[in-house]
Amino acid sequence: VLEVLRQSQKMEAMGQLTGGVAHDFNNLLTPIVGSLDLLQRKGLGGEREQRLIAGAVQSADRARTLVQRLLAFARRQPLQPIPIDVPELISGMGELVSSTIGPQIRVVVEVRDELPPALADPNQLEMAILNLAVNARDAMPDGGTLRITARRESIRSGHRSKLRTGHYICLSVADTGVGMDAATLARAVEPFFSTKGIGKGTGLGLSMVHGLASQLGGTITIQSQLGLGTTVELWLPQSSAIAGEETQLGDEP
Ligand code: ADP
Repeated sequence: VLEVLRQSQKMEAMGQLTGGVAHDFNNLLTPIVGSLDLLQRKGLGGEREQRLIAGAVQSADRARTLVQRLLAFARRQPLQPIPIDVPELISGMGELVSSTIGPQIRVVVEVRDELPPALADPNQLEMAILNLAVNARDAMPDGGTLRITARRESIRSGHRSKLRTGHYICLSVADTGVGMDAATLARAVEPFFSTKGIGKGTGLGLSMVHGLASQLGGTITIQSQLGLGTTVELWLPQSSAIAGEETQLGDEP
């Protein structure tokens, strides 16, 4: 019970912290966007300057979207899960992931089969994937490969698992980075646990991703080997509403 209490207090603090930071950020962004807009409309400078300004406007817009998502998360807006074509979602994210984590990392999005839709909130799912990608980047300071894939998995009744019996879409984010030792792996999902040093890591990334997955009736699993890399898997329940009776989530036996 104490552990659960400690965890929920941490989650509460996490929400407040995230909300506070996102709010300040939003306020700071307003004059940036305003000034850029003015520069753009006055048509100052030459062609090159205008191109630079256009680039800055684009980044500021992206920052604003991210901050809004963060605010939505902190406000604990109820998730709005809808059936999502996960292969389509991750295929469409390749460029955003690449531009977020930089050119020294090769991003490979691989989806071989069509999959039934998963139940998730698309904005939050994108944010979760970006979080995992940023962790992967931090684990690959000298570059490497980030592989994002999805497949179908089933949990059968009687199977020892935290998950309910039924079908899942398993989204996998794998890096070829430094990996984690056993002690880090054991604590990685804990809110505020970070090995990245003051000002670099908040320790909230994996705990947010885990929170999202479990709110949806899924979970995350992490496999990691020192020196070889890390694979985080996000298990999302298959959307039974669309997928038909064959894919209904069964009750715990
Ligand atoms: P943060 O990234 O702010 O530190 P997270 O909750 O996302 O917070 O991660 C917690 C810790 O787990 C990280 O500090 C790091 O030690 C470890 N970790 C997470 N993802 C990876 C990864 N892909 N490779 C190696 N270590 C990782």
